[in-house]
Amino acid sequence: CGIVGYIGKKKAAPLLLAGLKKLEYRGYDSAGIAVQEEETIAILKKQGKLNQLTNAAQNRVFNGKVGIGHTRWATHGKPSDLNSHPHTDSHEKIVLVHNGIIENFRELKQELIAAGHEFNSETDTEVAAHLISSYYQADLKEAVLQAVSRLEGSFALAVMSYQEKDRIIAVRKDSPLIVGLGEHENFVASDIPAYLEYTSNFYILEDEELADIHQDKVEIYSFAGELIADKNQTKINWD
Ligand code: GLU
Repeated sequence: CGIVGYIGKKKAAPLLLAGLKKLEYRGYDSAGIAVQEEETIAILKKQGKLNQLTNAAQNRVFNGKVGIGHTRWATHGKPSDLNSHPHTDSHEKIVLVHNGIIENFRELKQELIAAGHEFNSETDTEVAAHLISSYYQADLKEAVLQAVSRLEGSFALAVMSYQEKDRIIAVRKDSPLIVGLGEHENFVASDIPAYLEYTSNFYILEDEELADIHQDKVEIYSFAGELIADKNQTKINWD
């Protein structure tokens, strides 16, 4: 129900948890974060209130400066630690968070299982991770573009690959998503209040747009893969 992401010079975990806190008003039953660490992507996720995640995070070391986070309002698969986001593919190449519903997840899941993928959760979301992984050839944007052409339903996704550490790919279709633009740091979230404290410049994604987010650069593409060079920035005035 809420998505956040951070890429920059600061430690990501506290900024992810702070962003999720700001999105609490949207409602949720579980929460989780994933952070790019040196050897892996570290994932922590918990059913229940954000406090439980925040407390559990204190017993873990998160040093990474790139990460994504989520508050979940379960639609497919009961609220549980396992069904909480972030989700990964079998090889943990791809890690993502999702808002919305992937309507054709059963067909896709069957196809992916037949191709050897092993599923861990009961969610519709997990198919997106496996599908992106199945298309992944060292370019996360290309893999996500191929995957979204096969997804039906509503989705906002924030996606990372452990092979491309300075990159978050975010896509939107019928579920809101914004990108916050900072100095040597950028943010992604379901809604502006998540990071209004850190920037007042945003890209508000339209349906069928993809944001290719790096520490020093954000590019917006259509789902057809064309660069949208004239994408308007929205400036939020405090008064
Ligand atoms: N359909 C997904 C799930 O049940 C995402 C729900 C949400 O938007 O939080 O896990």
